[in-house]
Amino acid sequence: MLTDKFGRHISYLRLAVTDRCNLRCQYCMPAHGIDIVDRAELLTYKEMYRIIRVLSELGVNKVRLTGGEPFVRKNFINFLESLSFNDKLKQVNITTNGASISKYIPKLEELRVNAINLSLDTLRSDRFKLITRRDVFDETFQTLEKLLLSSLTLKVNVVVQPGVNTDEISDFINLTKNKNLVVRFIEEMPFNGKGLRQTDEIWNYNKIYSEIEKEFKNIIPLKNKKSSTSKNFTIENYKGSFGIIPAFTRSICNDCNRIRITATGMFKNCLFDEGVFNLRDFIRKGANDDELKQLFINTVHNKPENGFIAEANRKNKNVSESMSTIGG
Ligand code: SAM
Ligand code: SF4
Repeated sequence: MLTDKFGRHISYLRLAVTDRCNLRCQYCMPAHGIDIVDRAELLTYKEMYRIIRVLSELGVNKVRLTGGEPFVRKNFINFLESLSFNDKLKQVNITTNGASISKYIPKLEELRVNAINLSLDTLRSDRFKLITRRDVFDETFQTLEKLLLSSLTLKVNVVVQPGVNTDEISDFINLTKNKNLVVRFIEEMPFNGKGLRQTDEIWNYNKIYSEIEKEFKNIIPLKNKKSSTSKNFTIENYKGSFGIIPAFTRSICNDCNRIRITATGMFKNCLFDEGVFNLRDFIRKGANDDELKQLFINTVHNKPENGFIAEANRKNKNVSESMSTIGG
């Protein structure tokens, strides 16, 4: 089993299946995109399948597929199909920008996909274009509507961006009134290819909550699942719920059960570390399953206590790599 020296048990993998993306969100990457790596440097699906199989034998039972945009990688659906044969996995979830996926929804229902996290930072078409630098609001909103009609659990991720979309927080909460979805407000982090953005305001967990409190008087806290990334609430008599993810203030590290693997196979114990081991090279040099297992056990043992320590341990102190390469 994978347990770190603080007694945290690791059961959740976030895997970036690609570093490529069809959008260019301001808070994630520069307008010209990131320097994508050669295809040969990306983990192959076979390698990803093997890594997940080995990790699932060590107790990982939940996988989130992310990126980059997972659906832009060719044959992603076939990969999902192969994962459906791993019966040690209790949940396979996907984070997507939803811009080109509505046609796949019936297939996702058929496969073992449990939940979709759809990234949508605005309900206004013109603003969407500004944030993502692409004009595909209608397609993305259509995905949201189709997901609501499907059997998949839907969470909408909203990165709270000072001066850009903070005036829409209430609109997003109102979306939960009659719709069975969870809206999650995420603190913006400096993972955008440049580092911390200049802004006069800091919209952290407390500020986001107090903004909501101004408008909604009947907020009911929900019982948080252990290791949940968000603190969750609902408004009395609303069908859906909302959460706030303290991604940057990092107050959720005590119960962390997560590891990450980037599209090039870098193993990350924490979002804020700079990658602690290159799995791809280890596998390509011929490592067998037992060697791979031992590597996971030893590496996880050294998971830093929290995101601040992980950041302090970095050689490159500038926390600025794009979220698209890390796998959000
Ligand atoms: N392309 C997919 C998407 O956008 O959903 C998956 C990858 S994206 C990197 C995963 C999540 O990270 C998205 O919800 C996105 O909003 C979030 N994200 C990206 N950059 C971020 C940043 N600088 N701060 C906070 N969240 C960020
Ligand atoms: Fe692409 Fe997702 Fe990054 Fe936006 S947040 S640029 S959709 S990877």
